[in-house]
Amino acid sequence: MSEQDLQKNLLEVEENITRACIRAGRKREEVTLIAVSKTKPIAMMETIYKEGIREFGENKVQELCEKAEKMNSDIHWHMIGHLQRNKVKQVIQKACLIHSVDSLRLAQQIEQEADKLDLIVSILLEVNVAEEETKYGFSSLEVQDAVEKIAIMPHIRIKGLMTSAPYTTNPEENRKYFQKLSKLCIDIQKKNLDNVTMEILSMGMTNDYEVAVEEGATHVRVGTGVFGERVY
Ligand SMILES: *Cc1c(COP(=O)(O)O)cnc(C)c1O
Repeated sequence: MSEQDLQKNLLEVEENITRACIRAGRKREEVTLIAVSKTKPIAMMETIYKEGIREFGENKVQELCEKAEKMNSDIHWHMIGHLQRNKVKQVIQKACLIHSVDSLRLAQQIEQEADKLDLIVSILLEVNVAEEETKYGFSSLEVQDAVEKIAIMPHIRIKGLMTSAPYTTNPEENRKYFQKLSKLCIDIQKKNLDNVTMEILSMGMTNDYEVAVEEGATHVRVGTGVFGERVY
């Protein structure tokens, strides 16, 4: 893909986010675009870095760490993929936010490693709102209990919730899941737990980020829409 095509894609995504904000009566600054760069080369990432993008999302620890080594240190790296416990130590030193905390055991591992490294780690809890069998994440019922158990871990800060809605070509079908995640966030916020803020709602990907913004997403994770199709 040429630099011009990338710039054009980015502009289009930015405009779509702005329009969705206007429809929802929200300010554009309330929504952060995370460019999901998994499998994509650093040269492409540098192009959109030059356009002002500082938030990048990766789903593999090794790829995230390698890219973080090579790219400018003012980038914020978001870990968005399923995280194995043996990779926790590495990733908490590089990522600004782990979106994909999907079990208590993983949270315990993060607490343990963060304690050793004397770090405070910001996380989101991943919720499988559509209850898809193939997906990771807490169920909507489990997440309330999980929040209370993780909130007492001294090296962790829960900043909100994350979901990956089902793959669909009709984004309207996912609106109900985004509404459900947003409502869960509000319910948890009401508990007023220490170390829990619920300021982040990470939802919406290339096929459905506009609907997600309409339903309150603060962070959208867009890969294909910015970088084009992935070739594995
Ligand atoms: C790959 C990925 C994305 C981006 O997907 P696109 O459809 O390419 O925008 C977003 N979130 C997660 C968790 C992903 O793994």
